[in-house]
Amino acid sequence: MNVSTNLSVENVPSPEPVCTVGPSQSCRHALVDAELNDLLYIYEELVRSRFSAITNTLKKLSIYQHELDFVTHAQRIAKDNLRYELPLDLLEDAWVSGLNLRALHSYCTFRSFKECVAKVRFDQASWREVNALHTDYIQSCGYHTVNISPCSDGRLQGLLSFILRLAPSESVFVKSYAGAMFDIEEDIANWAHRELERLSGGLPGSEERNYLKIAAYHYSSSNPGHEGCAAHGSDTNKAIESALARLNGLRAAINNTYGRGAAPEILLIGVDTDIDSICIYLPDANGDIDPDRYIDNGVLYQQSLGMDLEAARNYISDAVAKVESQSGTGQGAGKMAAGMRNLILGLLEANLSQIEFVVQYHAGRYAVIGHNERFICAGEAMNELHLRNKFYFAHLRTVEEGAAHLDVGIKIFTNLNIKHGLAVPVLVHYHYSSNVPGSRERMIARGRRVKKAIEARYPDLHARGFLNCQIAISDKAGTERCTFIEDEVKAAGH
Ligand SMILES: [Zn+2]
Repeated sequence: MNVSTNLSVENVPSPEPVCTVGPSQSCRHALVDAELNDLLYIYEELVRSRFSAITNTLKKLSIYQHELDFVTHAQRIAKDNLRYELPLDLLEDAWVSGLNLRALHSYCTFRSFKECVAKVRFDQASWREVNALHTDYIQSCGYHTVNISPCSDGRLQGLLSFILRLAPSESVFVKSYAGAMFDIEEDIANWAHRELERLSGGLPGSEERNYLKIAAYHYSSSNPGHEGCAAHGSDTNKAIESALARLNGLRAAINNTYGRGAAPEILLIGVDTDIDSICIYLPDANGDIDPDRYIDNGVLYQQSLGMDLEAARNYISDAVAKVESQSGTGQGAGKMAAGMRNLILGLLEANLSQIEFVVQYHAGRYAVIGHNERFICAGEAMNELHLRNKFYFAHLRTVEEGAAHLDVGIKIFTNLNIKHGLAVPVLVHYHYSSNVPGSRERMIARGRRVKKAIEARYPDLHARGFLNCQIAISDKAGTERCTFIEDEVKAAGH
């Protein structure tokens, strides 16, 4: 896998948003939930403000750093602008050696993220309940669990709540991998764990329901050769084929191991990250997917704009039926099951709202179509934050395994941060389970190991203060979330 090519952060968006009607007409699709879009935009602004306030706050601090009551003054500025205080040791020596703005910038990035995690229930309260697709809808389509593996690209972090409009729940799992190349062995373990829960009565009403595995690759319609998936060298066909090969691999693995018919159902989705519209690949009667049998929701949006609600719904359902029964290229072996069809129709309809969200709030196409992440998360991601481009995620248990993904992250941040004199903030995060004795300590030890290994991999950046790693842990079973773990020396009080 070539994960280090085709990265750029400077983009000139091309002027072709999905809705191009004149100023006298409006881009209002009958199936779009405008109220939900408003609520999601308020959330987006709120989360964004926690990060965007950092730079100006630090600039202010920098002005006052040689004043007599600097520490008190600095804490007040931080409280007013960021809603939290700064670590004393980063402020106290400012009069001698100058303020370490690079370290403060990283600290604030981690701390603002922690703030988003801590306030998640409050922040998301307005839209969580009214989001389009809930657990009961997924269950009505015949699925007890949906496990989604998008690419770990920051532009797909809004996949669940924004792009697919799926309400976060106990039965929906998101685990990102570079290039959507999920780890088949780990997925078998996830599936088996869920099966065990189901068989032991932990998932009531799930007897007749199935497990659904979704892979989500991505591409850029306005700059396909450069702003697509870095893990696949911005080659969309390669991204599709690779994701599909993983899905088929998982199916084969479980069928071969546990008997034919045991395997989960699979679904492949593509995301145009410029405008957040999706492509869905339609499974046939056997559940098989063909790269040539898909439906492009951006096109459906345009074609059904201006129709009334019922007409638009019928139009979309007819379009799906037509693709499904196409002959020749991409021809499948019969029609998909009714539950799968309902799920696909639900996802398409829900995504229309996101297409219009981008039309309404981002001028039809994101201003920054490329990378604009705030930090790198290495280890295991938290699913609390649902928003585009907040962090680049490198899924790893050891740095040796995840080195290629980390290198891509460092390359992205060389452009985003180092070029501007800022350090690369790396949050090393792992989950433990308070149900498992000793798990917390083991995860802290792992965090320390990984942090050391990351610093050893980029010794030059580390030595020059351009790499700031912060370890954090969360409890899978309890309430502890994103607790920062200090270095051993620091924890022992110097
Ligand atoms: Zn990607």
